[in-house]
Amino acid sequence: MQEYDVLIVGGGPGGLTAGMYSARAELNVLCIEKMIPGGQIVNTELVEDYPGFESISGSELAKKIENHAIKFGLKITTDSVNKIKLDGRYRIVEGDNDSYKAKAVIVGTGGQPRLLGVAGEKEFSGKGVSYCAICDGAFFKDQVIAVAGGGDAAVEEGIYLTKFGSKVYIIHRRNQLRAQKIIQKRAFDNPKIEFIWDSVVEKVNGGDTIDSIDIKNVKTGEVTNLKIGALFPFIGFVPNSDIFDFDVKKDESGYIITNDYMQTIVEGVYAIGDVRKQLCKQITNAVGDGTTAAVAADKYIEAWND
Ligand code: NAP
Repeated sequence: MQEYDVLIVGGGPGGLTAGMYSARAELNVLCIEKMIPGGQIVNTELVEDYPGFESISGSELAKKIENHAIKFGLKITTDSVNKIKLDGRYRIVEGDNDSYKAKAVIVGTGGQPRLLGVAGEKEFSGKGVSYCAICDGAFFKDQVIAVAGGGDAAVEEGIYLTKFGSKVYIIHRRNQLRAQKIIQKRAFDNPKIEFIWDSVVEKVNGGDTIDSIDIKNVKTGEVTNLKIGALFPFIGFVPNSDIFDFDVKKDESGYIITNDYMQTIVEGVYAIGDVRKQLCKQITNAVGDGTTAAVAADKYIEAWND
């Protein structure tokens, strides 16, 4: 089994930053990423709230962060981690391809889209239901597109989808958006966007592909049918925190609870970024968490033989 000082599970902005700081501290560190380094921002068209970059494509920013970490000595491997275990003072990370052993592990596994959980959603996934506008938006050129949700993701991705769709409906369960005001304003000013308030998607219909959705007004109970070519649910996020073979403290939604040093209730086990319980899920938060966790892990390892 390969042995390291620090293992980082997840190569998003937080994980890559933790890796960069660990490598600069001359620790033997490996970052394990199951797909492409960069995390969710790889599928984000534009990032406009990362200081120093007024406007940069998500994939470009991801590549820059990755290259920066590699330049300082971070090694990145591709593997899908399915278990983290304790072995005395060591932490064992089990992937599909290999097992790894370290004194400390930093978990930045992010999360995945929350599903609507309505009839037809799974059936039409990939046949008109998509959770990635940047990946699939272009398939729906000149079609009517529906977006479900009222947070940053729904409104930002709704705006992005107006590049392709003839019209974009944003269906929100309340009559007030959760998204940041600056993003809201852009959507309200966009002539292709129409909001359907106080409403939820109740059913996804179609033949070979999606052709309509049933929408229920939560105030009146009225159900209407909307003809669409695509549905993009952006109703939040489920943290990927189900990989521990031991107890780490989580909140009721599965977010990992840490102290100010990003440490979980288990020594040498840290959580960073979107998988961690915190007020906001921004790239800046993930990067800050990664920094803190790397420095804390370094100090923990320094004291290992005391
Ligand atoms: P979010 O902020 O949790 O918003 C989820 C939205 O979906 C809310 O409007 C919520 O309604 C609605 N919703 C939740 N469950 C629903 C259900 N079962 N049926 C219908 N609607 C439902 O999630 P997000 O927009 O995916 O963003 C996740 C995190 O990433 C946030 O912290 C966000 O700030 C961050 N993010 C930031 C940016 C950016 O800064 N540019 C971009 C994307 C994401 P209610 O409002 O009624 O609760």
